[in-house]
Amino acid sequence: MEIRTPDIPTALEPAAELDQLGDEIAELSAHIEAATAHLLDLIREFDARGGWNTGFRSCAAWLAWRVGLDPGAARERVRVAHALGTLPLLARALARGELSYAKVRALTRVATPETEARLLAVGRAGTAAHVERIVRGWRRVDRKAEARETARRHASRALHVYQDEDGMVVIRGRLAPEVGALLVQALTAAREALYQQRRADVSAETPSPDVSAKTPTMAEQQADALALLAETALHSGIDPGAPGERYQVVVHVDAPVLADPDAPGQSVLEDGTHVSAETSQRLACDASRVVMRHAPDGQVVEVGARTRTIPPAIRRVLHHRDRGCRFPGCGLPFGQGHHIRHWAHGGPTTLSNLALLCRRHHRAVHEEGYQVDRQSDGELRFRRPDGRPLPEVPPPREVRGDPVKILRAQHDAEGLVLNARTTTPGWLGERLNVGWAIDVLHPLAR
Ligand SMILES: [Zn+2]
Ligand SMILES: [Zn+2]
Repeated sequence: MEIRTPDIPTALEPAAELDQLGDEIAELSAHIEAATAHLLDLIREFDARGGWNTGFRSCAAWLAWRVGLDPGAARERVRVAHALGTLPLLARALARGELSYAKVRALTRVATPETEARLLAVGRAGTAAHVERIVRGWRRVDRKAEARETARRHASRALHVYQDEDGMVVIRGRLAPEVGALLVQALTAAREALYQQRRADVSAETPSPDVSAKTPTMAEQQADALALLAETALHSGIDPGAPGERYQVVVHVDAPVLADPDAPGQSVLEDGTHVSAETSQRLACDASRVVMRHAPDGQVVEVGARTRTIPPAIRRVLHHRDRGCRFPGCGLPFGQGHHIRHWAHGGPTTLSNLALLCRRHHRAVHEEGYQVDRQSDGELRFRRPDGRPLPEVPPPREVRGDPVKILRAQHDAEGLVLNARTTTPGWLGERLNVGWAIDVLHPLAR
């Protein structure tokens, strides 16, 4: 009887047979790299068209859920897919099976349309380990250049406020990108608050036949938004306060509205902004609660003690049990306690009636029509707004036929010629001098 272990070749193995096996591995690898390029194209398109935006927080989260990638690998696929959208040479090399996904992944961390050709040459010449080292060296040079650029930009920050001849105040400035983003976000929020309010006011009054004639221009709206920002900042004090208090939102809700969105009553933020009944239900789901009793004339006659809708002890157990957002494919490690049956509807604050959801998914179940209930076996069941189930783990797609044959046939049809030498680097065994390589290749290295 002949006993063969796969990792100890014996003299009985003809060398030619092993060569053939090696070639087969190399050729199939080239096919898989080429197929990966196609897969990345599909992911890029799916992301651009928002195909994942069905309750998932990102394309990567969807990918992890749907095809079972670990979250890090899923994020990398999406990142590389995006990068290849602007790097045609690297994309083509992967599609032809000439560069492995591992090399492309490393190269796309630093490649730009300007440096792509040089980095492609690095990818062709070296092994994946060489490429990884070159990329690390490249990043060091990039980071130094970036730090210089950041320091230069920071030094040029300025805000000039002066009065024009007619008394108007003129503002001109340069802000660091992240500060600018903050300002733009705040302006957008203020503009929305102002103009949603205004629309509500207009519709409440006699409807004007030409509202559009009175609608302020974007520049005018921005000016109004800035005024609101200044007012708000002074009103609530510049001191941001304790971090916990910083983002506190106070909602006043009439009890009937909390139980039934169609009931008469109001739900308003502290500043009088109206919020939808669904939003106030979400905010109330896991919150501090103070019950006030009003006299018929509106005067407060009784104020109860502040309580948490979910007491700290139950919350701790809930976190321990759920460990993160329970929405399929999410798992974010922090969240809010959601009452499956809202406490305003008489739902008890017990573990079986609670589920941990992140902010994004708490909104999904309260305001976007996603449904969650607990089945008799204790498992949570999520449904899309149209009622279709959203399983925790989707069933894998069945592969019909021999996947290798399918790949080969597809690549043959595309006229792609792949063989055992396609992915082999040009490296002949010489020592890699990373410093020298970066000096020669990187446009910013001297
Ligand atoms: Zn909730
Ligand atoms: Zn979530």
